Amino acid sequence: LEAQLHKIQRMESLGTLAGGIAHNFNNLLMGILGNISLILLNKNPSHPDYEKLKNVEHLVQEGAKLSQELLDFARGGKFQVEPTDLNKVVKRSSDMFAQTKRQIKIYTKFQKDIWTVEVDVGQIEQVLLNLYINAWQAMPGGGELYLETQNITLDENYVRPFKVKPGPYVKISVTDTGVGMDETTKQRIFEPFFTTKEGNRGTGLGLASAYGIIKNHGGIITVYSEKGRGTTFNIYFPASEKEAIKQEKLAEGVLKGGE
Ligand code: ADP
Repeated sequence: LEAQLHKIQRMESLGTLAGGIAHNFNNLLMGILGNISLILLNKNPSHPDYEKLKNVEHLVQEGAKLSQELLDFARGGKFQVEPTDLNKVVKRSSDMFAQTKRQIKIYTKFQKDIWTVEVDVGQIEQVLLNLYINAWQAMPGGGELYLETQNITLDENYVRPFKVKPGPYVKISVTDTGVGMDETTKQRIFEPFFTTKEGNRGTGLGLASAYGIIKNHGGIITVYSEKGRGTTFNIYFPASEKEAIKQEKLAEGVLKGGE
């Protein structure tokens, strides 16, 4: 528990630091982008500097994407929730992914009558894609990706270290048969800029932004991994208020029925 708390405090101070940097950095980039757009507006595409400026514009946009991910880690960025069927979100994102990564076999198992959750669908899709891409990179020779959704009720004991409410949640599991992680890697994967990928292959922001987005939804992300065998990420989103009340009533009904 001591270690858990220490880790959470560490993530919180990293969040404050990262959020400050990302915010200021993003403002600078927007200033640059605005000026480039203005210059490009009255330049002829045949101008010798046109291509170079286009390059700069592209690089600045990449930089803005990075600072957005950092902002996601720090405070969730912009946020708009709607009642959502996570089966549909998982299905759509995995179909899209399957089309581009044919060397990976994808297996899905969907919960019937899945509970409704209130989420920002765009952000959740981004989280899932990050997890799929990591899984793919962990399986250079191909492999299997298992996606599963489940209704689950989390009790007081389970949720305590994560500082979220007990009650009904929808769980999404993403399991790969890849290289796995050792203990020290596992301890640090949610920190911004932590990456084991060499060269320019990793930014170390994928899981940090996933962590922030899920935290902002009142959810949980956990990881199980074994070196050489594979990795499972579990993410949990609280069921919508309406769903929670319905479940409570049902539970009471079941109890009464048994009397
Ligand atoms: P990046 O992918 O840019 O390195 P992430 O934050 O997405 O950044 O991941 C951080 C690190 O976590 C990775 O560099 C890798 O060491 C580890 N990791 C993430 N997902 C997996 C996975 N599915 N299998 C093995 N290692 C993983």
